Amino acid sequence: MAALLVDGPDLLVEAAGELVGHGDIVDLLDRALVAEPPLLARDGGFVAAGYDAELDETRALRDEGRGVIARMQADYAARTGITSLKIKHNNVLGYFIETTAAHAEKMLSPPLNETFIHRQTTAGQVRFTTVPLNEIETRILNAGHHALEIEKRHYDGLKRRILDVAGPIGKAARALAEIDLAAALADLAAAEDWSEPVVDTSRAFLVTGGRHPVVERALRRQGSGPFVANDCALTGEDTPAIWLLTGPNMAGKSTFLRQNALIALLAQAGSFVPATRAQIGLVSQLFSRVGAADDLARGRSTFMVEMVETAAILNQADDRALVILDEIGRGTATYDGLSIAWATLEHLHEVNRCRALFATHYHEMTALAGKLTGVENATVAVKEWEGDVIFLHEVRKGAADRSYGVQVARLAGLPHRVVERARVVLEALEEGRPRCRRAEGADR
Ligand code: ATP
Repeated sequence: MAALLVDGPDLLVEAAGELVGHGDIVDLLDRALVAEPPLLARDGGFVAAGYDAELDETRALRDEGRGVIARMQADYAARTGITSLKIKHNNVLGYFIETTAAHAEKMLSPPLNETFIHRQTTAGQVRFTTVPLNEIETRILNAGHHALEIEKRHYDGLKRRILDVAGPIGKAARALAEIDLAAALADLAAAEDWSEPVVDTSRAFLVTGGRHPVVERALRRQGSGPFVANDCALTGEDTPAIWLLTGPNMAGKSTFLRQNALIALLAQAGSFVPATRAQIGLVSQLFSRVGAADDLARGRSTFMVEMVETAAILNQADDRALVILDEIGRGTATYDGLSIAWATLEHLHEVNRCRALFATHYHEMTALAGKLTGVENATVAVKEWEGDVIFLHEVRKGAADRSYGVQVARLAGLPHRVVERARVVLEALEEGRPRCRRAEGADR
């Protein structure tokens, strides 16, 4: 057969080439198997009619026997005058004649010109057999067993034939997967208006109009407003490039971090990306520390897991790595958390020298942008209106001064008393320890 694809990207042309040349095995399986084989080969029924004359004959014999049984039931019913008489089958008795107990007497008394042999009495039913029934049963069983044996023989033969070409089948499966992946990504790119990224050897990470593909779809499905596209520019040819992202709870920090990591991943996988433009300088390693999880069975608390993950990043990230860190230092005392987050950011800047997006509710850390040349502040904008927060989801240069945690807690349905009390406590804390203030929204 000729190649399926002669023109197109090399990878796909090569993959399409692997899909041809399987005519013999495809033809064999087409002829040998029924269109929808059963799940288990054990009970037979998978070899197609017409594939093997001996099997066809044996099956006919078996099925004919079943027809004889049906006729026998009608005959016995007519001769005994018991219209409810049935010939049934189970694994213990095989075939048997069954009537209700009320008819037992009639079955055993002459003149019926047939000898019904009693086999079993159950609650309300009496079961019999006859010599002709036994004979036909043996014929059916023999034919059935024989048909199954033939099918098993074919099964083993087909298995051997398939194993002989396992290598080419494996290659075809892989090729099909590659074509499937490329087609799915191309379809997404066209449907979702993705663009072709530039992937080069620079250290740029420049994304214009970036979106989170999953959140965007979810918002569309829920009909809850458009996804706000955001830019990200981590530049610095030989210097670290870190954005320290502050902003209210629910503003979109985590979404922003993840969408940029996804864009890097998609770009390097050869896909178009959910952005209007993107230039990705080759990323050697992609690290993320997001969310809160514990691993109690292995003796690790939530905070321990967070620290283990952070340690892995700090110990491994090189200057081509892309790191996203979502709220380091949660789950411990305020000052411990802030200190760890602070020192982590310094280490990323001084030692790892990587590109990173670092989201935090420790607003004290925004001072680092003035001290470390590779660190810039970015924030997600909100508007305040009559005591409420309106989320704009726009990432801008600059630092946030608050987290609006109490407002978000109110939106989430915390009891009014608790929200009001929290406001009072917050005010007191802010007045009492202005320099040590910790973001009120941090969930720890
Ligand atoms: P927290 O500090 O409370 O963890 P966050 O700032 O990390 O919050 P996200 O979890 O990223 O906020 O976003 C909260 C919700 O806001 C998302 O589930 C999504 O519905 C919406 N959202 C986030 N980013 C955008 C965006 N760019 N456009 C539209 N909606 C967005």
